[in-house]
Amino acid sequence: MGTDGLSHVEEAVRGVCGCAARREPVPSGNVPVRRNLKELSDSHFDLVVVGCGIYGAFIAWDAALRGLSVAVLEKGDFGHATSSNTLRVIHGGFRYLQHADIARVRRSIRERAVFMHIAPHLVHPLPFLIPTYGHRTRGREVLAAALLLNDLAGVACRNGRDPERTLPRGRIISKEECRRIAPGLDENGLTGGAILYDAQMSDSERLLLGVVRSASSSGAEFANYVQATGLLRKGDTVRGVKAHDVLTGTPLEIQARLVINACGPWTTTMLGATCGHGPQRSLTFSKAFNLLINRQLIPGHAIGVYGKRRFADSDAILSKGARLFFITPWRDRSLIGTAHLPCAANPESSGVSDAELIGFIDEINGAFPPARVGLQDVSAVFSGLLPAAPSGNPDGDVQLVKRHRIVDHETEHGVRGVVSVVGVKFTEARYVAEKVVDLAARRIDKEVGPSMTSKAHVHGGRIERLGDFVGQEAGCHQDRGLSRAPLEDIIRRYGSEYRRVLRYLDDRPALPRRCDGGENSAAGPPPLLQAEILHAIREEMALKLTDVVLRRTSLRWTAPLGIVDLKACALLMARELHWTHQRINREISDTAAALTGPAALTTQPV
Ligand SMILES: Cc1cc2nc3c(=O)[nH]c(=O)nc-3n(C[C@H](O)[C@H](O)[C@H](O)COP(=O)(O)OP(=O)(O)OC[C@H]3O[C@@H](n4cnc5c(N)ncnc54)[C@H](O)[C@@H]3O)c2cc1C
Repeated sequence: MGTDGLSHVEEAVRGVCGCAARREPVPSGNVPVRRNLKELSDSHFDLVVVGCGIYGAFIAWDAALRGLSVAVLEKGDFGHATSSNTLRVIHGGFRYLQHADIARVRRSIRERAVFMHIAPHLVHPLPFLIPTYGHRTRGREVLAAALLLNDLAGVACRNGRDPERTLPRGRIISKEECRRIAPGLDENGLTGGAILYDAQMSDSERLLLGVVRSASSSGAEFANYVQATGLLRKGDTVRGVKAHDVLTGTPLEIQARLVINACGPWTTTMLGATCGHGPQRSLTFSKAFNLLINRQLIPGHAIGVYGKRRFADSDAILSKGARLFFITPWRDRSLIGTAHLPCAANPESSGVSDAELIGFIDEINGAFPPARVGLQDVSAVFSGLLPAAPSGNPDGDVQLVKRHRIVDHETEHGVRGVVSVVGVKFTEARYVAEKVVDLAARRIDKEVGPSMTSKAHVHGGRIERLGDFVGQEAGCHQDRGLSRAPLEDIIRRYGSEYRRVLRYLDDRPALPRRCDGGENSAAGPPPLLQAEILHAIREEMALKLTDVVLRRTSLRWTAPLGIVDLKACALLMARELHWTHQRINREISDTAAALTGPAALTTQPV
């Protein structure tokens, strides 16, 4: 649990660096993330990080823990872009065995173990079934050898304190067991299957927010809805960024010794528009997306199914001949992916067209006919851009870039004071952040200790045994008349910091049962949701209705969501943030538009 005493992290900083961190000691995990643009403009930071996807968030946390002063700017909400559109898998790197990249397999296994340790409430084991066919690259023998190698590579990471989160070894199963787990698999040449264990994020948005909160508690300054528009330069040296407040248009300048460009698909836009230098010559992106289906196709297991189209991974020494798609259980639904489209996509238009959606549905139904996915089953489409090798052929296969890039523009382009990072996996963000901060410290000539993000806990992650913790804590609030299921949901998503949300139960404004009394007025949200919304606004910088509905709460997934529900939440936010009627209506329509997917929003009269 969070304490009001000196943070363990601050103590660790003293231990590692032999000195106190630059900023005042802060209570562990108890510092709300405050948007203070004046502080941003008035201070001089070691680093300003542009972009707060998972890479920017981890860079900020790593740097702040090592005693650097950090500002983070995000043009939208934290994690609104690529980082909230993943398949939610923290990969142990099994697939890199086909590239014979054992070092990366080991690193991925380690990172998976780290995530399960630092955020035990949000990252959980998940068994994957890959069916085996014949005796070649999809055969039992090859998969058995791969499982053995994988187990050997991960030997050092297997021991966890919580047996619920210790990953068992992989194993080969019989045809019968395979059929039992996934009835309806293609029988042609089926010989059985390989079961291996990986990890899944139950709430990747909260994980990212947890990293933001941890970084903030270690002294990093954050501002969402602030867009960097240019670099502050003196000759060939960058001294910070020009920016503007997206909500008011107010310009500001942030001074820093080093700018870290962590803009994901906007990496080249950020650099190209400002100084004409960047990795743009060799960096292109392609579109990728997953589908969320409103039912669980295979409960308890993720399964791999081979696409019918031929595909050759140009880096694989053993090609499987087709893409392997995964159908994963997530909440009470299924996440299916990942589709890759060979298009020179622009980050502002990574949405998926009807034709692309239908094309992928056909591909999945072809690969696993019992899925019988129809358009009406799709509750959300998660799309984003991924670094890919440039392709001259618009109908050709997408070859994804396999490795992250850290570009030091001083050595590559002669521009001092700016470093770009281009990540390829959510899973690797913490590790890459460590490398970025190592480089940053060298560039600003500051001595720092080793990275500590693999040993600290993400905000809410101080839990030894999750099952016991949830059971005990859920039993502690019976006298408050809270329903068990939403309470458990809060405990699981906020982990050891969930009581910070409950505090707002006693701090709610008196809302009338029907919020505005009009004919189509909304009932006030349930008390626990009201508390969560207040917590989101006062502690986690939620400034728009989309911030609350899409990222701070699980509202989007727990019940059919209609306009009346959005209105109830918007009215509560309006009281806190002093919105006009016009603003309330705009927030509701923006949120309705953001809830993509034919089944995402039940139609109710406004
Ligand atoms: C469909 C899909 C499925 C995936 N599945 C997985 C998976 O299961 N497991 C896995 O490990 N990885 C997965 N990935 C990869 C993973 O999502 C990415 O590697 C990771 O999220 C990239 O994070 P990022 O921080 O670099 O980028 P982003 O999350 O895109 O963050 C960049 C941020 O920079 C901000 N920004 C841009 N320009 C500016 C500016 N001028 N000023 C201020 N802010 C700015 C943007 O608003 C954005 O929020 C998947 C990716 C996709 C697309």
